[in-house]
Amino acid sequence: MEQKTSKQAHVLVLPYPAQGHINPMLEFAKRLVFKGIKSTLAITIFQSKSLHMHLDPESSSIAIETFSDGYDEGGYAQAESTEAYLESLNVAGPKTLEELIKKLDDIGQPVSAIVYDAFLNWGLDVAKKFGLISVPFFTQSAAVNNIYYHVNRGLLQLPLSETQVSIPGLPLLEASETPSFVHDYGPYPGFSGLILNQFSNVDQADWLLLDTFYELEEKVVDWMAKLWKIGTVGPTLPSMHLDKTLEDDRDYGTNIFEPKTSVSMNWLNNRPSGASVVYVAFGSWASLNPEQMEELAWGLEGSNCHFLWVVRENEETKLPSKFLEEISESDQGLVVSWSPQLEVLAHESVECFVTHCGFNSVIEALSLGVAMVAMPQWTDQPTNAKYVEDVWGTGIRALPDEKGVVRREIVEKCIKEVMVGEKGKKMKENAKKWKRLAKEAINEGGSSDKNIDEFVAKLLCS
Ligand code: UDP
Repeated sequence: MEQKTSKQAHVLVLPYPAQGHINPMLEFAKRLVFKGIKSTLAITIFQSKSLHMHLDPESSSIAIETFSDGYDEGGYAQAESTEAYLESLNVAGPKTLEELIKKLDDIGQPVSAIVYDAFLNWGLDVAKKFGLISVPFFTQSAAVNNIYYHVNRGLLQLPLSETQVSIPGLPLLEASETPSFVHDYGPYPGFSGLILNQFSNVDQADWLLLDTFYELEEKVVDWMAKLWKIGTVGPTLPSMHLDKTLEDDRDYGTNIFEPKTSVSMNWLNNRPSGASVVYVAFGSWASLNPEQMEELAWGLEGSNCHFLWVVRENEETKLPSKFLEEISESDQGLVVSWSPQLEVLAHESVECFVTHCGFNSVIEALSLGVAMVAMPQWTDQPTNAKYVEDVWGTGIRALPDEKGVVRREIVEKCIKEVMVGEKGKKMKENAKKWKRLAKEAINEGGSSDKNIDEFVAKLLCS
């Protein structure tokens, strides 16, 4: 259902090829379609063959096209190393994106703007070459982006020399609360190059879009808005979980793994009445070491709470032996290889989310009003966890020991704190507040909706 029709504006949306990037950018594209802008989502050739796609009628008006990362048969898993993958993506990506733009032009669907993932900063060069509006889309929090900006411009020198870091618009951070690419500079050469370079050419972009909402990160957004034209356009959850304006938009519609929907939802629906459930998931990428997996498993069991735990297939062998039998006999928990995360978080019995703090997971929990136990692993997750606990007040961090492992007693203690503790009550109140504000931001006339309208107006008059 389109709200209005436009003239020739056509936006090409180009996410970095990972679940946590496709989800928000696809949702943004759905909002553009709703507002009358033709939108095409470009995914890699490998993803076009491997993603589980079930796009709802609303988003079926989004065209799907492909570009190449150079690994058309296996994607990232096919590459010899992260560096090899990113090198190939940076060569094959812009080349095949140019081919796609020419093809769309040839078939009478000329592109007028590229909304490219800020991780793919070559999107700007391609846009400029074709005289198109160029718009980086940032899928991480504004706070994290501002840290990366400071590193990129040499305003924050790496490796860090101080134990605390002061960045405008952010609370004072302990070094360990900055992203791993900042406080643990060195171990991830490929990814850190990609991520720290996001700001290398943004000064030439027409607009910067952020997958957050103004009320969530007011101070840092105000600070960044002094430098660039900024638009906060989040939260980018499917509309039926927020404002309900896009009637068919119930889920993201793309999954790297097949979600175990009926098993998960039946299990949740069959919990004894009044039972509260802990949902546990570490996103699409993070890999726990076997010791951590074992501690988490027994910590969950020891909490005596019902729990639904996502353990991806490639992580399953790390589960302690007998664990699955024990929890199934006692009916305390269920392990699935991939869940319909939004439906789970929106379920009335889910009261606590043990999360790695990927930004999508955090913003989903905030938008659906679920308190969190934060177990950050790497990248932006330590900073998100800091915000969850100290800025947004909707969770608690489960702290690791000197070996970097969160012990079972800590897991148990943190879950209990959220589920039944005094602090937990306050976290749940805050979670409800953020749920309301998230919905208001994207609702008609809210801060994000206004920004999307302004962006649409720019597209229409360009
Ligand atoms: N997700 C899901 N089912 C799962 C686990 C995760 O649908 O079992 C989705 C989740 O809703 C989120 C995305 O995968 O939209 C993960 O993104 P996030 O930024 O949280 O973590 P990443 O995978 O990038 O580390």
